[in-house]
Amino acid sequence: MDILASYLQHLCGKENVKTNEPLSRWTTFRVGGPARYFATVDHKNTLLRLLSALNYLEAPYFILGLGANVLASDHGFDGVVIKLAFHHIEHNDTFLYADAGAKLGAVVNYARDHELTGLEWATGIPATIGGGVYMNCGAFDHCLADSIVMVDALIDGEIKTLTRNQLNFGYRHSLFMEQPAVILGAYFRLEHGQKDKITAQMQTIIEKRRRHPHEPSAGSVFKRPRDNFYVGKVIEDLGLTGYQVGDAQISPKHCNFIVNTGNATANDILKIIYHVQDLVEQKTGVLLETEIIFLGKIDENSIKNTSANN
Ligand SMILES: Cc1cc2nc3c(=O)[nH]c(=O)nc-3n(C[C@H](O)[C@H](O)[C@H](O)COP(=O)(O)OP(=O)(O)OC[C@H]3O[C@@H](n4cnc5c(N)ncnc54)[C@H](O)[C@@H]3O)c2cc1C
Repeated sequence: MDILASYLQHLCGKENVKTNEPLSRWTTFRVGGPARYFATVDHKNTLLRLLSALNYLEAPYFILGLGANVLASDHGFDGVVIKLAFHHIEHNDTFLYADAGAKLGAVVNYARDHELTGLEWATGIPATIGGGVYMNCGAFDHCLADSIVMVDALIDGEIKTLTRNQLNFGYRHSLFMEQPAVILGAYFRLEHGQKDKITAQMQTIIEKRRRHPHEPSAGSVFKRPRDNFYVGKVIEDLGLTGYQVGDAQISPKHCNFIVNTGNATANDILKIIYHVQDLVEQKTGVLLETEIIFLGKIDENSIKNTSANN
């Protein structure tokens, strides 16, 4: 066993460290080769020590939430994938705190159970609080930034509390995309509400989401470039509904979703992404930016050179 694996086991506990762990097990696309090391960290102090060691060793690492917005390379990741396993949630009046490892769904349910309103729109979004804050995830004209007051994060080896105005929130954007940091937890300001009304609102959202594709995916692949530019509709108008490379397919239910219909590879998905980007740019002059995050090495040229053949 190599030194890093031994150190990880010492720090995180033997049962919490895996080597050559398939990332397809940990991403909602169900795609991705092996992570050289995969460590589950169940305490903030452990995380602090781990990151200072990894920085010292110059070992690459990636913080993984639910993997609901990640496309992992078929070659995997030659570094340490870190999964946060602290998920405490608490509140005081309308002020709610959740650890980064808490699932967004658990936070939404917690708020409902304590008669706090403001997060119902997030029902059904697969995310951890860490991944949700990083992406500033959103739906139905709402986003997490609307109710976030502060975020605790590990930056340059120090735990800092950043206030909302320091977080550079925008459409699917946060400060954490600009500077390396690990989100530890977030504080939300909600409002008092009634449990039955909150539950009804959540039910409405569940109904709306039922129309979305159910095959493995990472939700919307491309960002909306501007208001009134409906990516799914533009892709549909290009005749790409159901367009398939290997087992990856533009969903017939929602053209901004690419779904894994069986054994899709990251390369299959990337070929579709590049094909869509090319056609949309030719048609509209707009280069679509991806919302999904790439993990591991991607050989863009080999994909682009072969995509024309599909
Ligand atoms: C079926 C489906 C529906 C979806 N619907 C929506 C939707 O309606 N709206 C929407 O916005 N998104 C949607 N998504 C995408 C996804 O749910 C969001 O992007 C979500 O925020 C991802 O959270 P995650 O915990 O899975 O993060 P991951 O996908 O695991 O990670 C995303 C990024 O966050 C970083 N990250 C994660 N945790 C931390 C941390 N603690 N500190 C620092 N960085 C961190 C990762 O390194 C990565 O760069 C959908 C996805 C699916 C599969």
